[in-house]
Amino acid sequence: RSNAEKFEFQAEVSRLMDIIINSLYSNKDIFLRELISNASDALDKIRFISLTDKEILGEGDNAKLEIQIKLDKEKKVISIRDSGIGMTKEDLIKNLGTIAKSGTSAFVEKMQTSGDLNLIGQFGVGFYSVYLVADYVEVISKHNDDKQHVWESKADGAFAISEDTWNEPLDRGTEIRLHLKDEAQEYLDEYKLKELVKKYSEFINFPIYLWASKEVDEEVPAYEEESSDEEDTSDSNSDEEGEEEDAEKEEDEKKPKTKTVKKTTYEWELLNDVKAIWLRNPKEVTEEEYTKFYRSLAKDFSDEKPLAWSHFTAEGDVEFKALLFIPPKAPHDLYESYYNSNKSNLKLYVRRVFISDEFDELLPKYLNFLMGLVDSDTLPLNVSREMLQQHSSLKTIKKKLIRKALDMIRKLADEDPDESNDNVNKDVEESSDSKEKKGQYAKFWNEFGKSIKLGIIEDATNRNRLAKLLRFETTKSDGKLTSLDQYISRMKSGQKDIFYITGASKEQLEKSPFLEGLTKKNYEVILFTDPVDEYLMQYLMDYEDKKFQNVSKEGLKIGKDSKDKELKESFKELTKWWKGALASENIDDVKISNRLADTPCVVVTSKYSWSANMERIMQSQTL
Ligand code: ADP
Ligand code: MG
Repeated sequence: RSNAEKFEFQAEVSRLMDIIINSLYSNKDIFLRELISNASDALDKIRFISLTDKEILGEGDNAKLEIQIKLDKEKKVISIRDSGIGMTKEDLIKNLGTIAKSGTSAFVEKMQTSGDLNLIGQFGVGFYSVYLVADYVEVISKHNDDKQHVWESKADGAFAISEDTWNEPLDRGTEIRLHLKDEAQEYLDEYKLKELVKKYSEFINFPIYLWASKEVDEEVPAYEEESSDEEDTSDSNSDEEGEEEDAEKEEDEKKPKTKTVKKTTYEWELLNDVKAIWLRNPKEVTEEEYTKFYRSLAKDFSDEKPLAWSHFTAEGDVEFKALLFIPPKAPHDLYESYYNSNKSNLKLYVRRVFISDEFDELLPKYLNFLMGLVDSDTLPLNVSREMLQQHSSLKTIKKKLIRKALDMIRKLADEDPDESNDNVNKDVEESSDSKEKKGQYAKFWNEFGKSIKLGIIEDATNRNRLAKLLRFETTKSDGKLTSLDQYISRMKSGQKDIFYITGASKEQLEKSPFLEGLTKKNYEVILFTDPVDEYLMQYLMDYEDKKFQNVSKEGLKIGKDSKDKELKESFKELTKWWKGALASENIDDVKISNRLADTPCVVVTSKYSWSANMERIMQSQTL
């Protein structure tokens, strides 16, 4: 085209497209849900703007917010059209090719190892999945602020953009045309498409229509002697109109009889029933429905189920409904940019209208691993995002969400039969329900344990609640995870403090001389081996009236021995001599101690200084 401007894809995007277009990946279906999801996002955006700018939607058909799918069997084209916000020329250039999203290279990497495209939507590059089924794609888009443009690419490293002077003008929105590859012709089948929409897009909040064929009964003139002929031709729809005209002509000549024949017509068929699952009574929503809803929300179409969910209504001054999920796996970038970004996975709705998924004020950072939504009746609809962000009821919503989230996590632990295995000999017959919940908490801990620890550090109000959720190994846990409550239940009589030690690994810690005496005397010691544990223990001072004692630090009190005083006396001169001899080595004091068994002496950290492990961590961070 003469007015086309050419652009090159950003390198990482180009690599991604190469991989996709050449992919032998079998589940090509995913392109449809990605396009529908983009259409739905674009509709959400225009609807949100229309809350404060009534004019923006226009009138009549223009104001309808919906998604339309059409198949052209002859040209082998699927088109998906939405009346969403649309894209300006600049948007098309930026969003579809020249600016790589942060997830692009992460996804390319993942593809090369797993080859699984299923999670493409989570990485923010879902659009490019169109090249699983198409070798040529056109994106026609009209934004209120610009003329209509066409973006087109054959995934050959470049794309072109032209002002659109030849297609039917869109009022507003986007139409994506996929020119299907030979091996993807199956998607021209209406039945297949209906199935796919039902399977993957049933929770989309806008109507999805398919231009679908329909058999209708029609009265047509009939002549007894020709009737069988007539029936044959009326089934093939292509030259039907001609047939009818012929019939009409003949109508004048003879007196017609009529008969009923099947005729194929086309009409918009609604494929989804736009229901909001969170408005329903939790008792009436099935587990399968929650799972499916989670998948569409999280764009997580792996086979795994969410670990838990909580669906509730808050009443009182601030009314809202919420649905929270614990995903089966942590997203790839959960802790990567923990301190720089506050990306929550919670969507905010006000009276069923999607407002934002970038609201930092709904959950504290450490709970950002949760997926879900909040729909509030109390928040105002017709104010800007900035005003909403400062609304006083957000604080109440946040408080309730935290409480419910922590309840949900605790319930996950309480219901896991692995979690209460102190009484090993109890021969409980496992129900199928408890079997399903077995090991779920360990799974949760593996994926999100770090978030709980960060919570203990950051959330003083809920520190004790979060500490209850902590899991760790100890010198007695035999490789399994245990909790503070379980530790306390096993404490020796007379033991006042909770003992712990920090280090780089379990193997290293088990050799530590600090554990000798304690192990010999049968005390249990918590083994903390995650760098974050060191910070954690600066905030976790006590639990259920018990203090924490780092056994590599000064102040360790284990049961007194009658001989202690005697020993102290008899070695008085020696300790004095040592203290003098080590004076130049930054040693504060030399003491007789009962913490060792075989090792003759050990260097202990003073109460308020960094442990040796903390020194190690700090060093590795500054180097
Ligand atoms: P994501 O949806 O995660 O942002 P995609 O690769 O699916 O990533 O889409 C890239 C971007 O292209 C979107 O963020 C959006 O800005 C734009 N886009 C895609 N489809 C549409 C559409 N139908 N209408 C408006 N903008 C769209
Ligand atoms: Mg998308």
